[in-house]
Amino acid sequence: MSGQNETKEFKAESKRLLEMMINSIYTHKEIFLRELISNASDAMDKLYFKSMSGEGESVSRTDMAITISADKDARTLVITDNGIGMTRDELENNLGTIAQSGSFAFKNENEKTEDVDIIGQFGVGFYSAFMVAKRVTVVSKAYGGDSAYKWESEGVDGYTISNAEKDSHGTIITLEIKDNTEDENYDEFLTPYKIKELIKRYSDYIRYPIKMDVEHEKLKEGTGENGVEPEYEKEIVTETLNSMIPIWKKAKSELKDEDYNQFYKEKFYDYTDPILHIHSKTEGTATYSALLYIPSQAPYDYYSKSFEKGLQLYSSGVMIMEKCGDLLPDYFSFVKGLVDSEDLSLNISREMLQHDRQLKIIAKSIEKSIKNELKKLQKNDREKYEKFFETFGTQIKYGIYESYGMNKAELQDLLMFKTSNGGMTTLEEYVSRMKEEQKYIYFASGSSVTRIESLPQTEQVRDKGYEILYLTDHVDEFCLQMMHDFDGKEYKSVSADDLGLETEAEKEEIKKEQESSQPLFDFMTEKLGGKVKAVKLSQRLKNHPVCITSEGNLSVEMEKVLSAMPNGEGAKAEKVLEINPNHAIYDKLKSLYESDKDKAADYTDILYSQALLIEGMPIENPVEFSNKICEIMAE
Ligand code: ADP
Repeated sequence: MSGQNETKEFKAESKRLLEMMINSIYTHKEIFLRELISNASDAMDKLYFKSMSGEGESVSRTDMAITISADKDARTLVITDNGIGMTRDELENNLGTIAQSGSFAFKNENEKTEDVDIIGQFGVGFYSAFMVAKRVTVVSKAYGGDSAYKWESEGVDGYTISNAEKDSHGTIITLEIKDNTEDENYDEFLTPYKIKELIKRYSDYIRYPIKMDVEHEKLKEGTGENGVEPEYEKEIVTETLNSMIPIWKKAKSELKDEDYNQFYKEKFYDYTDPILHIHSKTEGTATYSALLYIPSQAPYDYYSKSFEKGLQLYSSGVMIMEKCGDLLPDYFSFVKGLVDSEDLSLNISREMLQHDRQLKIIAKSIEKSIKNELKKLQKNDREKYEKFFETFGTQIKYGIYESYGMNKAELQDLLMFKTSNGGMTTLEEYVSRMKEEQKYIYFASGSSVTRIESLPQTEQVRDKGYEILYLTDHVDEFCLQMMHDFDGKEYKSVSADDLGLETEAEKEEIKKEQESSQPLFDFMTEKLGGKVKAVKLSQRLKNHPVCITSEGNLSVEMEKVLSAMPNGEGAKAEKVLEINPNHAIYDKLKSLYESDKDKAADYTDILYSQALLIEGMPIENPVEFSNKICEIMAE
């Protein structure tokens, strides 16, 4: 074949990643070994799957192994697997281009992201070899293929692919290790001691043996006893460096937090420790081990359509599905981890899984344990829990809202809200602090705590000394509406028409005053031309002149949220403009209504706009508003 050895260029983005690797200041260069070993392990998984489907020669799991050998003099480190191998095209496509892995696309969108983060966050796979090697050679033969090929590269300048000789399927990767520099000791990657340590640390659970020939000194036979001087000779022993026991199969007592966290970061491409891990072994109606994690931050695509929930599913230690969505309810979609069960058959299809009774039982049980662990965290480590809730609380609230409150019983205890008492509270805590005569759980909505605190509507409730939940999340109010009550105590917005705070006498008094000014209020309502349902005297205002409240099920805050959504423009709260009867503006309105109707109409407009502004709503005509105010100022 002509032109076989011509040097090909890497695709642009691969080249950039390579540059990053080669010049990497990343302190954990050692992870290259883990990356290459996990590729080898994947290659053997793939082979196993393929051979199970019946095509090609059959392979036995027990023959599969990864071998490592280091040659100090030649400065080479060789990693061999007898996995599925790669065809010429695959060498070209898989190693010449960085995989379409979300990681790199993400990097492009976020130019400023630190290189270091990318490495830690996603694992960069094969290219990480260039952090320690000046030349990388890959000889591979695909399972079922006739020929072997060699891929070779010294970095950014490109790579070559040529014919090669190899008897059986699999891949041999040879790294020519860089020379030591002042800051970097590359030699250590050629020492058995370091290699063993790295494999124990990063790849211990790999389910295929990772073998290495290790040289030992051995007492020569017939020496060292009966007065004969001891003499030593060299002996080569093939050692298996990994325990091959998956971490989730180990006893909890054998594992430290660090082990769990390490496994998590490596397996789920996160660079921060998780908030929580749940390791459980369950026997009974369903027998399974689960290792679950709650990340400390949401994955970058968590709130996008591309995010897919799910746990890895294993059948007796062999992965059968990368992401099994049926194992997690949507409101716990942030959970990562895996489930291993003997009850599931190895070659069960996706369709069958969906209807699998065993899987449903496992899913239920997992859900319960996630909830229990979260409850525990809430009780025992409040700070951590609040951090968790800040990150994923919205998801849980959606869980309640979207199920029309059906998940209320399961989830309401997990909820936390900001409160007028400062900090965050659970509903149970709020209720335990309620005053004896207090009928409702009060809440106020707004875009921030500061904003809510200055809402005129909160004055009356605050005056009574009642605690108020501060709802700052869009979904909050919708969620409370779905839940209706906690322990029989109904939720009540500070903007609701009846706050249940006045005595009969007070109500009577305001009713009289309202009636006597009814013509004024009707006039104002008419001038506002359908923007409000009514103008009323307010019982809740103490100092502020006006506020907007609502009647019916849709609050002003909900209108704001809905109208920001596609197709949500039609959602309108039934607004009421409330006037403080104890404010001088009320008397002014009354007298203007008698003496100067035009002015009374202008005042009405201004007051309504002010109420909207306080509420954080846009006003219809800011120019007119401002002009009217100026006119009055100039008087
Ligand atoms: P990732 O493993 O995240 O997909 P890598 O850069 O590590 O990305 O590898 C790219 C691709 O090259 C892999 O997806 C796989 O198809 C192929 N590959 C890498 N190493 C091997 C190997 N030892 N045997 C077979 N295929 C491999």
